[in-house]
Amino acid sequence: MEKKGDKVYSKPILVLLGAPGVGKGTFGKKLSKDFHMPIFSTGEYLRSLVAGKESSPLIERVKKIMAEGKLLDDDTIIQIIKKRLFEDEKPENQGIIFDGFPRTIPQAEKLATIGKVKAVINFFNKEAILVEKLAGRRECEGCHEAYNVAVIKKEGYEMEPLLPKKDVAKCDKCGSKLMHRSDDQPIAIAERLKVYHEKTAPLENYYKTQGILHSFEPKKGVTDYPWVKVEIGKIISA
Ligand code: AMP
Repeated sequence: MEKKGDKVYSKPILVLLGAPGVGKGTFGKKLSKDFHMPIFSTGEYLRSLVAGKESSPLIERVKKIMAEGKLLDDDTIIQIIKKRLFEDEKPENQGIIFDGFPRTIPQAEKLATIGKVKAVINFFNKEAILVEKLAGRRECEGCHEAYNVAVIKKEGYEMEPLLPKKDVAKCDKCGSKLMHRSDDQPIAIAERLKVYHEKTAPLENYYKTQGILHSFEPKKGVTDYPWVKVEIGKIISA
C-alpha cells in the first residue's frame, strides 16, 4: 500500500533481473542509450559509495556486506532508490531502468507503491557459465566500463573475451587501470549465486504472475544485443 507522503514516479520502470554475471549491466547501458531511459545500478552506486575517501558506519557496513556477497538490508536500499527516482528527472527521459533492484520480494512490493513496473527483463545463463563469466570479469577503476577475459565455447554458448583494444591492462575509454572486483573472487561468487537463488529468483514468479516477465538467454554475450534490443523495443512500445 502506498503510504501517505510517498511520492509516485509516473513514467515507466524497466527492471533488469538476472543472476550476477549474466550481463545486466552491459545490456542495460546499451538499452539506456537506445531507449532514452537513464539506468540506475544499485551495485554500481554502492561500489562508488565505498570507493570514496569518506568513512561512516553505513559505508563500513556496505563494504563488508558487498565483499561477502550478501545483500544490503531492504530499508537502506529503498531509501537510496526513492532518492534516485526523483533526482535528475528530465522531461525527455522516457522512464528509468533498474539494474540490480529489486532483489527481494519486499523490495519489489515497496517499488510497486512508488511507481509502475512496465516490464521485467529476465536474463539467464547456465550456472557454470555464470561462474566463468564472473571469474573473468574486469572493471575499470575509473569509469566502471566492463571487460571480460573469459573465453567460453561450450554447451551452445559462444562468448569471446571483451578486452581493451589499446592496452590490455587499461580502460579504452578513460585509461584507468582494470580491476578484479573483490566480490568476483570464488568464495564471494558462490555466496552471490546462492543469495540470488534464495532471495531474488522468487521475483521471477512474482512478476510472471503479473504477466510482465520476459526472459532472454543471451548465449553470445554482448553480440546478442541487436536481437535483444529489437525484442525489448517491442515490449517497451506495447
Ligand atoms: P551487483 O553489482 O548488482 O551484483 O551488486 C553488488 C552488491 O551490491 C550485491 O552483492 C549486494 O551486496 C549489493 N546490492 C546491490 N543491489 C542490491 C539490492 N537491490 N539489495 C541489496 N543489496 C544490493
